[in-house]
Amino acid sequence: MTDTETAVQPFTADDYAARMRRAAEQATAAGLDGLVVMPGPELVWLTGYRPTAITERLTALVLRPGHDPVLVVPALEQPDAEGAPGAAAVELEAWTDGQDPFARAGTLLGATATMGISDSAWAMHLLGLQAAVPGSRYRSLTDSLPMLRAVKDDAELARLQSAAAAADATYEQVVGLRFAGRKETDVAADLARLLREHGHEQVDFTVVGSGPNGANPHHEAGDRTIETGDAIVLDFGGLKHGYGSDTSRTVSVGDPSAQLREVHEVVRAAQQAGVEAVRPGVACQDVDRAARRVITEAGYGERFIHRTGHGIGTTTHEPPYMIEGEEQPLVEGMCFSVEPGVYLPGVLGVRIEDIVTVTADGGRRLNVTDRALHVVE
Ligand code: ZN
Ligand code: ZN
Repeated sequence: MTDTETAVQPFTADDYAARMRRAAEQATAAGLDGLVVMPGPELVWLTGYRPTAITERLTALVLRPGHDPVLVVPALEQPDAEGAPGAAAVELEAWTDGQDPFARAGTLLGATATMGISDSAWAMHLLGLQAAVPGSRYRSLTDSLPMLRAVKDDAELARLQSAAAAADATYEQVVGLRFAGRKETDVAADLARLLREHGHEQVDFTVVGSGPNGANPHHEAGDRTIETGDAIVLDFGGLKHGYGSDTSRTVSVGDPSAQLREVHEVVRAAQQAGVEAVRPGVACQDVDRAARRVITEAGYGERFIHRTGHGIGTTTHEPPYMIEGEEQPLVEGMCFSVEPGVYLPGVLGVRIEDIVTVTADGGRRLNVTDRALHVVE
């Protein structure tokens, strides 16, 4: 772990300033007059500021090309905002209870501005801005700039690599523990503990889908006692240094059935085909198609019931999505999951997932644990 640890340096105010400049340029290219960014993943990415609580009091970053970025914050949260790593790159404008924050934020927009606004903005905040600047218009930031955070720089890649290494170490240790006779929630607790031991500051999900529960991709972990002969979908991740991990492996408790062996081999081949399809210029949907083709040809097409992958960064689900209809070409530095699965209702599920980054030579996996069907006790 120490090798990747030393590669992770804190982001500087200059890093955040560069991101905000790039975002303003992209807004112009998308036909917008600027961006209004509310608390959420984009605000964290652009400024490093993560308000401790998201409340009815208005917090908004206003980015306009040719203007300095301004962060409008409630006065009582000003000290927190000043402590954010990107604070030196923004002008802070504090407002106190009793003042009209929308009128203040409104003066930062043009009278007829068309702004991109965070998808996570509260309706009351958007409505407040609209009332303060009646000529202003708003578009979804994700729809307008879907690839804003998609291409990772070297410092971001180092964080994603570190998070993936921690998830891999977690998997290597969890398969050495006992499964049979314990509850899914016990194994989920082990996964969460190990992710934290390997440096995660946040655990987002610890899926333990045993036997028939594995056939429900949304199953997290429940009271079911794991039995010999079960297939178990393990899918876990969280944040380390602010960047996400997300990996899945399917293990067999005791000797696998012929059915599990067969389905696992189909999913493994599909995952391999998906990763091999990755290279700059290829459309996202072609990664989905490459993985799906293998499963369809094996006769399980109807049982692969979700997209092949999602982007990952400061959030564990973000663009680009590896899904039919997504024609966005892959660009060097993008990071996303490749995670085909087959789900047989009432019987079992199998999913295999790695985070993959696009390099000039093709896809490179950040998760590197063995993808063969592992037998646990
Ligand atoms: Zn996952
Ligand atoms: Zn995933």
